[in-house]
Amino acid sequence: MNRYLFILTIALGMTASSHAQQQGDPKATEVWTPVPKVVDPGNTSKAPSDAIVLFDGKNLDQWVSAKDGGKAGWTIENGVLTVKAGAGDIKTKDVFGDCQLHIEWRTPAKVESEGQGRGNSGIFFMQQYELQVLDSYNNQTYSNGQAGSLYKQHMPLVNACRPPGEWQTYDVIFTAPKFKEDGSLLSPARVTVLHNNVLIQNNVELKGKTLYIGQPFYEKHGPGSIQLQDHGNPVSYRNIWLRKL
Ligand code: MG
Repeated sequence: MNRYLFILTIALGMTASSHAQQQGDPKATEVWTPVPKVVDPGNTSKAPSDAIVLFDGKNLDQWVSAKDGGKAGWTIENGVLTVKAGAGDIKTKDVFGDCQLHIEWRTPAKVESEGQGRGNSGIFFMQQYELQVLDSYNNQTYSNGQAGSLYKQHMPLVNACRPPGEWQTYDVIFTAPKFKEDGSLLSPARVTVLHNNVLIQNNVELKGKTLYIGQPFYEKHGPGSIQLQDHGNPVSYRNIWLRKL
């Protein structure tokens, strides 16, 4: 038998034996309905067709001051939203539960201060659970408070920060906590985060609302706003969209 015929014989034999293990009707395991809804995925500058656009560079129509519900007092210039120090946090008018969030952020190109004082902002889900925004490029601080941490609860798996002044992305899957009638916790909040397309939080479980001091705990609540933090540093944002899950 020549070499090629030998290989062919072996290959046919393997196919026959693997088919022999697969008896029955393949159609029995095919699912044809329902059919997933068609979504235009967009691109780097355009949100998916089923997303709620929270900021597209034009205005702050979707946002209010977190403090008093009045006008959101941050700056928009050349399509970029920037924290105005002292204006306070801003929050979305709408409230959300489980969601997918895309947000782009940039810490100041001019490096000032250090640790938690350098390019600090943050994204709060349901106004309670902070995903840290910080210039963590060659900037030491406590690991569970660096960029990509779920503040004081989970440090990021890796530091995927770009240098100050460069745009960075977060893509987040947030699962809201669920509560029983009596107010006790049924299931905790869970978070997955990609930072610049790198997985940094893998479906981690939150211990409760973000606290600066002390151990986190849960208090029963319903859907809540996305809130962006004014930590006194001129951090910028652009291209913010959310999909309800
Ligand atoms: Mg912060």
